[in-house]
This record gives sequence, C-alpha cells and structure tokens, in this order.
Amino acid sequence: MRPDILSPLFADIETLPGIGPKTRKLYAKLLGDNIIDVVFHRPNRIINRKYSPPISQMQDGDIVTVQLLVKSYNSPPRNRKNVPFKVSCMDESGSLDIVFFHAYPDYIRKNLPIEKSSIISGRVERFGQQIQIPHPDYIIPPGGKASIPELETVYPLTQGVSLKMLRNIITPSLKKIPELVEWIPSNIIAENSWPSWREALIAMHQPITENSLDIQGKIISRLAFDELFSQALTLQIMRKSNEEIPGQKIIGNGNLRNKLLNHLPFNLTKGQEKALSEIYSDQSSKSKMMRLLQGDVGSGKTVVALMAMLNAIESGKQAAIMAPTEILALQHYQWIKSLSEAIGIKSCLLIGNMKQKEKKHALDEISNGKVDIIIGTHALFQERVIYKELGLIVIDEQHRFGVEQRAALAKKGDNPDILLMTATPIPRTLVMTLYGDIECSILEDKPAGRKPIDTRIISMAKAEEISSSLSKVIDKKEKIYWVCPLIEDSENETIDLAAAKGRYQQLQQIYGNKVGLVHGKMKKEEREKIMNAFKSDEIEILVATTVIEVGVDVKQATTIIIEQAERFGLSQLHQLRGRVGRNDLDAYCILLYGNINATSQKRLEIMRESNDGFRLAEEDLRIRGSGEITGTKQSGLPEFHFADLREHYNLVKLAHKHAKLLVNKDSKLESLEGKAAKILLYLFKHDRIC
Ligand code: ADP
Ligand code: MG
Repeated sequence: MRPDILSPLFADIETLPGIGPKTRKLYAKLLGDNIIDVVFHRPNRIINRKYSPPISQMQDGDIVTVQLLVKSYNSPPRNRKNVPFKVSCMDESGSLDIVFFHAYPDYIRKNLPIEKSSIISGRVERFGQQIQIPHPDYIIPPGGKASIPELETVYPLTQGVSLKMLRNIITPSLKKIPELVEWIPSNIIAENSWPSWREALIAMHQPITENSLDIQGKIISRLAFDELFSQALTLQIMRKSNEEIPGQKIIGNGNLRNKLLNHLPFNLTKGQEKALSEIYSDQSSKSKMMRLLQGDVGSGKTVVALMAMLNAIESGKQAAIMAPTEILALQHYQWIKSLSEAIGIKSCLLIGNMKQKEKKHALDEISNGKVDIIIGTHALFQERVIYKELGLIVIDEQHRFGVEQRAALAKKGDNPDILLMTATPIPRTLVMTLYGDIECSILEDKPAGRKPIDTRIISMAKAEEISSSLSKVIDKKEKIYWVCPLIEDSENETIDLAAAKGRYQQLQQIYGNKVGLVHGKMKKEEREKIMNAFKSDEIEILVATTVIEVGVDVKQATTIIIEQAERFGLSQLHQLRGRVGRNDLDAYCILLYGNINATSQKRLEIMRESNDGFRLAEEDLRIRGSGEITGTKQSGLPEFHFADLREHYNLVKLAHKHAKLLVNKDSKLESLEGKAAKILLYLFKHDRIC
C-alpha cells in the first residue's frame, strides 16, 4: 500500500488546473498519468535572459533581453502575406528590426508604440550589419507590469503541448511535492553536498544558476542517484529473495565430464575453467543458482553449458537448454547429440515445429526420465512439458531477458539452477544496472588459434565491383553474408527493405539461384528454410537484413559484407562480424560506408583495429548511449529520467554498494532507514516488489 504522504504526487494529472478530459491524453502521452511524472519531466536546457548587450554588440544566436526605443513600422503591402511586418527600434549604439510574420497590427501598436520604450526578450539573428529579432519570446509594453524570468527552463515537448502550456502545469505540480524522510545516508549527502530530494526537484524546474542542469552538477546527480538507488534496491531485493529459495545441491562424481573432456578435440581455456568452477560452486550450494555467463562470440560458451549440464546429470538430474530460435536449438541439438551419444547419455529435441508423433514421444521420454538433456526453444516451458527431475536450465543468447522474466523463471518447478548465457558484451556499468541481482562469469579469453578477421573499410561506390568479384570466394567453396541495414518501425523501413531486395536481385543477376534473401518481414518458417539452405550447399550468398540470428554457426562462411556500416552500432557490427571466422580459414569483413562523417569514420576505424567485444561495447556506450548495446527498448534496460550511464558510473557503483548494505541488513525494508528507502521505490514505481 502506497503511503498516504505520496497521494498528492500520484493524483491524476487531470486534477491539475488547465488539464481537462480532452487535453489529458496529450499531456499523458508526453509525461505520464500522474503528477509525479510532471515533476520528473526533466528540462533539456536553461535559457539565460540576463544578457543585455547594446545592439552593436549583439551576435547571431544570442538570447537578449533589452529595452529599446521603437522608431517606425514597416508594414507589408496588403495581400503580400509572406512579407513580414518589421518594427524598427534603436538604442544609443545602433538599430535593429523586430520581425513578425502574419502580424496582428493592433497587437503591435499596443505593445510596441512608436517613440516609446518597450522591453523585449528573444533570439538575435545577425547578417553582417543587419540585426533582427524575429517573434520575441517576451514583449513588455511601456509601463507594463509583467516580468521576464531571468533563467527559464526549456522542456522536451510533443505536438499539442506548447512550452507555455507545460510551464503552466509545472508550478502547481511542484507544490505537491512533500517533505520526505531522507533515504540517502547522511555521509553520502555531506560528501557530495547534495540538496534534499524536494529541493533538487524544485531547483531543476526553477533554476537559480545557469548550471543547474549540469549532468554532473549537484541537482541532477542527486536525482540520478535516487533513480539508480531505487533500481539497485529492486535488484538487490530480488537477489536476496533468490538466495532464500532453497535449491538443489548438485555435486556430480565427474564421470561424464571426464569422458567428455577426453572426447573433445581441444582443451578448455583458462576462462572456461574459471567459469566452470564458479558454476560448480553455485550448483553445489544449497541455494538456487542464478548466474550469467558472458562471453564474446566464439568464446566457447556452449561447452561450458554442456559441462554444467553433465554435472547435473551425474547427480541423477535432467538438464535443459533453451535457445531463442529453432535454428539455434537445432544447431545445439546436432552438436550435443553427437557428443552425448559418445559418452553414453541421451538427449532430445523439443521445438514447436515438430511432428505430433515425435513431440509426444519426446514428452514421454522427458517425463519418465529416459532423456538426460533436453534441447529446445520456448516450447520447453509450456505446461504440457513435465520433467522428471530438472536440475539445470541453460538459457542461451538471452540478453533480452528482463528482471520480470527472470523472476517468472525463478518460480518454475523444483527450483532448478539457472544459467543465462549472452554473447553481447555488456560494459560493467550496464551489467550492474541490468543484472545487479545475479552473479556473472565472464569468458575473457578465446580458444587459441583464432585468426583475427581481416576488416576493411570501403566506399559504397565500390559495392558493384565487390559484388562481381565474389566468385573468387565461391570457387573456394566458401560462403558469403551480405548484410543490408533495416531498422524496423523506422521511417526508412520501406526504403531499406527495397534496397535489400534490390541488392538481392543484383546479386541474383550475377550468381543466379546461389543467392538467398532473408529479412525480418518474412514468415519465420520461410526464413528458417532459407537459413537451412545456406547451411547446406544450396545457397552460397545470403543477403540479409540484420536478422542473421546471433549464434548462427555456418562454418564455411568466411566473408561478410555490411552495407552502410556507419548506421550500425559497434556492438552490432561486432556481432555480425562474428558470423564469419568460425574455423581456421581466412575470414574477411568488408564495411561499406555510405554517408560518413568524422565520428562515424572513427568508429569504423575502431572496428578495424579491435576485435574485442568489450572494448567495442564500451566505445558504443561512450558514443551512442546504452540503447545501442542492448538492442534498444526490448533490452530490459530501464529507461532513466535523470541517470546517464555514460556519465554516472560512479553513482551506479555507489548506489549498488549502498543498496546491498541496506538489503543485507533489512531485506524487508522495515527499519527506519528501510522505510525511507521504501518510499523511494514507490516514487520510481518500483513497488511491484514491495
Ligand atoms: P559461443 O560462445 O559464441 O556460443 P561456441 O560455444 O559456439 O561459441 O564455440 C565456438 C567454437 O569454438 C565451437 O566450434 C567450439 O567447438 C569451439 N571451442 C569451444 N571451446 C574451445 C576450446 N577451448 N578450444 C578450441 N575450440 C573451442
Ligand atoms: Mg553460442
């Protein structure tokens, strides 16, 4: 139950003066439903109206607030609607024009009477000696009483809600902010000389200095910390409750794992061994495992997963691995099946797209315990599937697995251990904000003997030339990916799709039916059919929009060409590049650039120089922000009002440290300190877990 003290803030925005049933929708779209959403609406800048230079010193772009003597009007001839109405004004240093398009002459005569002084505030345009101020933001007629604010905030807006309308509801909203008991420990407040929460919000909307919105300044830092702290608390509370779920104690005898190691054509890397020892230790503990295994593309996560599954099987349990697509599930199945046969255990596949009879057979074998490893898609967790004794669930390539989904999964069955795996290298800041509730293992090394992929940056102008030279690759019995950008739901979607189809046709003209096309608008079955044709020998060149699934493993693919590479994030490019170079053949990545500027040039050069997914992800975060790394909004990454993960890394760390301390002491948030923090959870609408 939300405490009463917060009720005014959670009142509907319709209760604000000026918002009626009709306009509510507009405001709600921009802000949210509650008054708290209004006070959380962060201005994007401050206009300083204190600057008052003589006319002769005004520069283009200056915002000035000045008293001017009005000299004359220069009104446009009738029926010349596009010619502006000009009001010529002067001070001791020179003259300028105030310019109105579609003017109301009566308004002008009243507010800017000739031979009188009016005060105006607006933005200067200067062309050489000619100075003008079009449509001033403020005009105060001689003797007028209204005042001009010295510092004025500007907000993100939406169609139908003007700055003026928004400002009108901010002030009454600020009045609803209560004084709350401080949730940040006094030493942290003192060290940073932060204002209180209420003071910070008011200062953000009614700034007293021009720096009030600085991202590293006291006001925004304080609010960002609140936001990060609230999020960290949520994750830490989840971690705690996870720890309290009794799990299964799994300590295998090592027989199957030794057999596998003897059978593999390689030795495990140091990183794989370290990750495994962390996993085994979780498995053997009496609480339930929830661990994330991160490793760049090709770092060898699957074999780690298999070893962990064997550990469970050695102790008489079953293990399941879930892939995001049927192609990936099949790929895992083929690899795991051959190995499990060699070491004398049984595996089976469970996907949606299976014959009824086969499916029934699989379900029977799962429920009576005849199979040890079950490989599949989401189908694994449908209600009809009854496991005999599930000891471990591995979830592959799941960076899109948000807090809520993890919570749902945690409630499944006999509390099997859970291992999440992702190939999306996530910078440390993001790991904490995304996965602060779970443990992480990282594969930092790669299996030895991998050659770097030869990456080149070439102009789109050369695309045709490159497309006609691909027979060199095909003659070697190697395969090619040709990637075209397509950002779904963007304005360019149709154009992009047409471009991809155009490229497909152009390549078809040269290589005939050796070329295939897959894109996101295709039916899943059709797409998988073509992917399979590419895996077998029917297709040699695959034109694809970004849908080449993460993790797809076509060993013979050695060349990837990416059109308009500048439009992709570095992590995305790295993922794509990881589709090639999957064996000992020389591999190439050609980044074709279209419109390039200095920044994008630099980014592509980093691609050429670095093959380190973590470095590229950090670089992306620095240049483009967090959405790029995790794949935008579906990533499960919270969207922040105040916090910026690029700027506030120290605050992220501090927030987690403090949240952990608090939750370890008082996981129900019942102490004085805990109660104060609980209020914070309500403020940021994290109260699902209260
Ligand atoms: P990812 O981490 O991208 O899922 P995979 O598990 O698919 O990577 O492994 C990529 C390739 O590397 C596979 O062919 C796998 O057999 C191989 N591999 C895994 N571990 C090692 C190792 N320690 N030494 C050599 N090759 C390895
Ligand atoms: Mg994989």
